[in-house]
Amino acid sequence: MAVQIQSITGMKDILPDESPLWQKVETTLKQIMASYGYAEMRMPAVEYTSLFVRSIGEVTDVVEKEMYTFDDNGDSLSLRPEGTAGCVRACIEHGLIHNQERRVWYTGSMFRHEKPQKGRYREFHQFGAEIFGISSAEIDAEIILLTNRIWKKFGIGDHVVLQLNSLGSSEERASYREALVAFLEQHKESLDEDCQRRMYTNPLRVLDTKNEKVLEILQNAPKLTDYFGEETRNHFDRLRAILDANGVKYEINPRLVRGLDYYNHTVFEWVTDLLGAQGTICGGGRYDGLVEQLGAQPTPAVGFAIGLERFILLLQSINAVEVENPVDVYFCAVGDEAVRQSMVIAEQLRDQISGIRILTNCSGGNFKKQFKRADKSGALFALVLADDELAKNEIGIKNLRVESEQLNVKISAVAEELKKLLGVN
Ligand code: ATP
Ligand code: MG
Repeated sequence: MAVQIQSITGMKDILPDESPLWQKVETTLKQIMASYGYAEMRMPAVEYTSLFVRSIGEVTDVVEKEMYTFDDNGDSLSLRPEGTAGCVRACIEHGLIHNQERRVWYTGSMFRHEKPQKGRYREFHQFGAEIFGISSAEIDAEIILLTNRIWKKFGIGDHVVLQLNSLGSSEERASYREALVAFLEQHKESLDEDCQRRMYTNPLRVLDTKNEKVLEILQNAPKLTDYFGEETRNHFDRLRAILDANGVKYEINPRLVRGLDYYNHTVFEWVTDLLGAQGTICGGGRYDGLVEQLGAQPTPAVGFAIGLERFILLLQSINAVEVENPVDVYFCAVGDEAVRQSMVIAEQLRDQISGIRILTNCSGGNFKKQFKRADKSGALFALVLADDELAKNEIGIKNLRVESEQLNVKISAVAEELKKLLGVN
């Protein structure tokens, strides 16, 4: 036998057992986006590497070591590690954000060459949204309210916490950066290698360290908030007031800087403590500089992305979602003519009852065998057709979940009967 080829490390199959939950999540998310008036964007999974380097930033984990980059006849291309860069590129390219407001959402695979572990994969899925052309605190609040609605809808509101911070304007950050570097220089000897390197390339990321020793030193570091001007403070206050008015709780986390370079003002993460180290299920924030950085007119922008694997792991860990049975009816038939007719009647039922899910028995066997398969399928009802029933123009309906007599009805009446039993119109 030939050697079996395995899937790639960190790239997972989503099996039929799990896909109903994925579908439920995706469908619900789409409905929620529609209820806020957002439209879908679909972008390619591959872009020029330079797009990610320019937007995400050269000195970020993602660009430094996580991208799948390859040469395509002299062009450097990369599998997208996130959705924002491609979404901005597409919106600029198609003139969707010039002098206008735009609210879009997207979903799809993202690729990062990370060390795979629970909640961290090399191919994963994000569901995200981006809003262009609106600089207010109200729109920042809208996406937080929207994500909050998602958690509530799935009944996990009690298991996630909103962490909120402001990064200020780029000017405020620049002055803060100077002060921070000066502080870090004084403590250079006590910093780990990573932080020493980050100190000059991307000093704010030092705040994001998990090193306990460095964290202790950072307690005395200058605070970004001390560098905020009136506008930044106003923006943050307005946002908080809307969240308060909606009863959305949050923790201010001054160390929340996010992994990507392009953020300013509002940043946030929704975090759970049920998934170990991979506890961030959603991250987002404002990135007013990015559109200009990618070559178009300056345009304010804000967005978020949910990591769907982590979201689904969280739902599973607390059994938050009950997935309904996958089939309504299993059609059993024995005898040549009965089998043929079962395939005709099943087609008619699919015409007559919108959304009905029918499994036809396509692999022969006696009724005993077929009922076993029917039971295993999860179907609620079995339709039963043998040649003698067919001769009387009748069909049997058997409830597979509640002990009861088989009901025989005329074939012409079976659609009406099933509608009644399934409670559909
Ligand atoms: P982390 O700090 O966990 O590495 P990140 O800051 O790199 O996350 P973002 O770039 O903000 O993540 O992506 C948004 C969301 O996508 C994350 O909050 C997370 O839920 C999810 N995500 C990011 N990387 C992965 C991955 N490798 N596998 C699964 N989900 C991921
Ligand atoms: Mg990461």
